[in-house]
Parts: sequence; C-alpha cells; structure tokens
Amino acid sequence: MTYKRILLKLSGEALMGNRNYGIDPDRLSDYADQIKQITEQGIEVAIVIGGGNIFRGVAGASNGMDRVQGDHMGMLATVINGLALQSALENAGVPTRLQSAIKINEVAEPFIRRRAMRHLEKGRVVIFGGGTGNPYFTTDSAAVLRAIEIEADVILKGTRVDGIYNTDPEKDKTAIKFNTISFEDVLKKGLKVMDTTAFTLSQENDLPIIVFDMNKHGNLLKIVSGEAIGTTVS
Ligand code: UDP
Repeated sequence: MTYKRILLKLSGEALMGNRNYGIDPDRLSDYADQIKQITEQGIEVAIVIGGGNIFRGVAGASNGMDRVQGDHMGMLATVINGLALQSALENAGVPTRLQSAIKINEVAEPFIRRRAMRHLEKGRVVIFGGGTGNPYFTTDSAAVLRAIEIEADVILKGTRVDGIYNTDPEKDKTAIKFNTISFEDVLKKGLKVMDTTAFTLSQENDLPIIVFDMNKHGNLLKIVSGEAIGTTVS
C-alpha cells in the first residue's frame, strides 16, 4: 500500500447523490463499502465530511441571515452527516469514532488530537465533524488542518469529477485533465482545487492532495494501492 494513514475529504453535496437535498442512502452505503475496502488493507482512515447538502453559511447570509449564525448551522450539518456516515460504516462492520470540533458530548467525542491518533492506531475510522469549529472556514480547511495534525500522508478529496482540469469539464467538452500538477501551477493557472485558505495550508505543509471521483466504486482502493487515479497536487 502506498499510504499508511490517509485523510478522506467528502463533501456534503456528494452525499446527496441525485437528490437536491439531504442524504442518499445508496450513496452513503457505497461510501461505507469503499472505506471498508481500504481499512481491510490496514490503511488508517480519518474522514472530514462537509455539510453543503444540508446548509451553508454563505447561502444563509445571502438570504439575510447573520453569517456566523449560518456557519454554526453549517457546522452542525457536518455533524449530522458524520453521524450518518458513522452509522453506515458500523452497519458495514467498521469500527468508528466521531469527533466534533464543537462540543456536543452526548452525540460525539470532542476533538482531541492524541485520542484521534490512538483510535487510528487501533484501526478505528475517525470521522471529524464540526469543521474547524470556527465560522468563516470551510470543511476543506478542516480537512487540511486535521490531516496535518494527525500526520496523514495525503488528503484524498473525493468529488464527482475525476480530477483537475484546465477548464470546467462539466461545461467544456474539450477540457484537459492533469494527472499531476504542482501547487505553484494550480495557483498560477487559477485552478480551483480547494478554497485558498485550505490550499495554501496544504502547500505550506507539503501535504499532497489527490482529487478523484469517489462515485466510481473501487477508486479509493485503487488510489491507496498506488494506481494513478485522479489528479495529484504536490
Ligand atoms: N463551516 C464553518 N466552519 C468550518 C467548516 C464549515 O463555518 O470550519 C460551515 C460553513 O457555513 C460551511 C458549512 O459549514 O458552508 C458546510 O461546510 P462546507 O461548505 O465546507 O461543506 P461541503 O462543501 O464540503 O459540503
């Protein structure tokens, strides 16, 4: 296996599948199945999950809501998704722990770095909910932050697109995919991989990012087995 410890970033939107809102149970169980496949190879797996399928602070703010209040709602949405993923993983027989950046002790453990690392060593999948715990951040930033903290080898950003392209492949049929690209070139070409805060944090800490299509069953296992799937930024 190419990696020992990975951080998987799943967007909330990905959980919607073909729906317009909420969680698609088929998508959820497919994700659980793919995650199980890599834990069976001895890979230590931490997950940061987004909340965009339920609520985003910016969307609330554009409708006149206080931004911080909206971001709190967004962070709670990530905990809801975390609970759903935890349940799906446990149904698949994978031991998990959910840690939250916001204290919500009846529902999830608080985020404690050392405890998270101990869970990983014991083979438990650790799901980080609540983002960074701060408004004005995204779960991409939470993913990079947690990955650095737990000393993950790589961030695997599961999306519905199979990598990074020079233009938007959903709009432009002539778009060309990069197999590998440097952090500098992503910035120079103005490509969108993560928000700038998350991206520069990753760059400054030499943490590679692989963007790949999580909706193609088996891709996760292929990546950790060393197959060139998606786009690697390093
Ligand atoms: N959020 C936040 N701080 C964080 C992470 C998330 O305030 O550290 C809020 C923010 O409102 C965001 C929402 O939670 O829009 C959902 O997260 P995100 O948009 O990153 O989810 P994704 O796009 O991955 O589904």
